[in-house]
Amino acid sequence: MKCKRCGKEAQINILAPFCESCFKIHYEKRVENLVRKYNLIRRGDKVLVAVSGGKDSLSCALVLSKLKDKIGFDMEILTMDVNTSCVKEDIKDIVENFSRKIGVKFNFISFKEYFNFDKKLEDWMMEKKVKRPVCSFCGLLKRYVMNKFARENGFTKIATGHCANDILRFFFKNLKSGNLDLISKLKPIIYSEHSKQVTKIRPLFECLEEENFYYAKLNGVEVVKSCSFYLTKDRTYKLVEDFLNLYKKDFIRFVRFLEKVEIRGDEKKLFECKICGEPTNREICSVCKLVGKSCYG
Ligand code: AMP
Ligand code: ZN
Repeated sequence: MKCKRCGKEAQINILAPFCESCFKIHYEKRVENLVRKYNLIRRGDKVLVAVSGGKDSLSCALVLSKLKDKIGFDMEILTMDVNTSCVKEDIKDIVENFSRKIGVKFNFISFKEYFNFDKKLEDWMMEKKVKRPVCSFCGLLKRYVMNKFARENGFTKIATGHCANDILRFFFKNLKSGNLDLISKLKPIIYSEHSKQVTKIRPLFECLEEENFYYAKLNGVEVVKSCSFYLTKDRTYKLVEDFLNLYKKDFIRFVRFLEKVEIRGDEKKLFECKICGEPTNREICSVCKLVGKSCYG
């Protein structure tokens, strides 16, 4: 098969056949078009890229580092060691090396120190009788720390590596539970709704996991294995795999539909948590409720 762009022998055929160098160009262009279409990043922005060490967030950081000078923004990386047994490799070294290679400042937060956990997150949860799935609790802490760190350090945007597969999974999950207001949050940009909340962007909204995998690989990026605990437990995972097998060539049309669709759900007003002052839709935020201010204050 021939490369769609240059006519040389194609090596990668995900949505269309490309040779290696045209694949990279095509991938970067798709992300750049999305960034410009929705003004995800403007000249003068300071972007914090949340990097877990997986193929998605590393690809996100890499492609943004190539757009940095072209658009005129600053960027830094934040990696959190979430202190669970899911991540075994040394994510700190891997992401720190990567950051050095691409010339971007690396920031690191260890939950163990930040929240004063004396054991692995799942064991701590068991001891404190926290009745939430580990992934949901871990996600809650990550979002809390990411937002607080970004705001306190003057970042205007937080970029995550959420890609089309994640968006489709969220879509099916929320469709099943009838969570309409969450479906309307499936956008490439989620504007801040509170002065203490930093706007979030998802530059890989129109990219598939498979494309991120090849983009990282072709650029020689060392990747940490993703947290498989979450995926094996997630019932929508298989559903999205089947969906993509059937409709892969049409999937961009589907994510673009989600970009446009507006569903009015219940508006949830944000307040400041009475204990820690972080934005929340209740009096006391879930982190203070579950971890307790005394632990990390
Ligand atoms: P997940 O919730 O694990 O699917 O991750 C979604 C996005 O959150 C990733 O693409 C990253 O941008 C960010 N993220 C997840 N885990 C971490 C972490 N340990 N450190 C920094 N960012 C993370
Ligand atoms: Zn709080």
